[in-house]
Amino acid sequence: MKLAIPREVNDPRVALTPDAVAKLSELGIEVCVEKGAGQGAFYADDDYDGGTVLDREALLKSADMVLSIHPLPDEDLAKLSPETVVIAEFKPFADAEITDRLRGYKLKAFSLDMIPRTTLAQSMDVLSSMASIAGYKAVLEASRLLPRYFPMMITAAGSIRPATVLVLGAGVAGLQAIATARRLGAQVEAFDTRSAAKEEVKSLGAKFIEIEGAKEDTGAGGYAVEQSEEFLKRQREEVQNRAMKADVIITTAQVRGRKAPLLVPKSTVEQMKPGSVIVDLASSTGGNCELTQDNQTIVHNKVSILGNSNLAALMPQNASQLYSNNVVNFLKILVKDGALNLDLSNEIIRGAYITPAPEANENE
Ligand code: NAD
Repeated sequence: MKLAIPREVNDPRVALTPDAVAKLSELGIEVCVEKGAGQGAFYADDDYDGGTVLDREALLKSADMVLSIHPLPDEDLAKLSPETVVIAEFKPFADAEITDRLRGYKLKAFSLDMIPRTTLAQSMDVLSSMASIAGYKAVLEASRLLPRYFPMMITAAGSIRPATVLVLGAGVAGLQAIATARRLGAQVEAFDTRSAAKEEVKSLGAKFIEIEGAKEDTGAGGYAVEQSEEFLKRQREEVQNRAMKADVIITTAQVRGRKAPLLVPKSTVEQMKPGSVIVDLASSTGGNCELTQDNQTIVHNKVSILGNSNLAALMPQNASQLYSNNVVNFLKILVKDGALNLDLSNEIIRGAYITPAPEANENE
């Protein structure tokens, strides 16, 4: 089976790193990479020892399976033979038409972001790998923009108090942001609507903000559920009180398949201290801050607001490594003796398989 790794469009990461070539050969998979595919993550074509380097046209034409991070553009999908397997983060929750488009090209698609968030599937969880990097990078980006120290400093010229960081949403990205801000010496407060987050926040040495009345659903696969407008109003008031004292706010609050909840309205930004910074990781789904512009840094009332939901791309080498490791673990269950092992009794494969034809569902 020939696995094609195209060069990502507008992203320096690569979906498979050179160390994976030998591991996949044991599964009967022959790796082909597009010329320059690893360049952005500092992997040369020659590093893919045992693989074949091709131009994009030849790569897509010869592929049995295509692995990428972002979905391929339509012009590339059209070049694939029917029945080709495509693996990427297709995000069908955010793009309602993607599944139909892939079916239209007669492709078999597996969406890595649809793998269930279970203990068994943890080693294949690209969402967690990328969110963790994003949380770490969010703090470093905030420190770059902040006109002051994170840690407490006692110097001959006087003492500096530590920065105060407020983290909204303590999932994978939020927890990594808390840990990173703590390592840099900041005082950290955090909030999440899931009560399970409370102990995790406290174990990292941060203060958990208590807001009564959050809705939870144990059937939501660990994900948060949409809150009532009344709850969100109370939350915004509480955020406002904390925001006025904060130097940095990092927002990561997401509700799968919905617009991100609005937690930091314009009026709150206008009460923040001059020079303070907001990093909004929910910017691609509308942002947790009312003023966030996706993929931009703006300044409003002397507050910098950075909107970026793809901060993992700023650390392309480790991001590619972790993505690649996750994918190798997924391929270990998806491929057997060099052929697709479409075992729909496996909940990981069933969760990721987004294009089953109705009749295939019954027969396979
Ligand atoms: P996410 O990116 O979907 O959302 C980020 C955080 O925002 C979540 O913690 C969510 O609860 C929070 N949030 C939503 N609305 C909010 C609001 N109004 N105010 C404050 N916070 C709000 O989350 P994620 O990081 O992808 O994690 C989702 C869940 O999956 C978590 O429970 C996490 O522990 C779980 N998880 C499990 C595994 C596993 O077992 N393999 C792996 C990763 C994540």
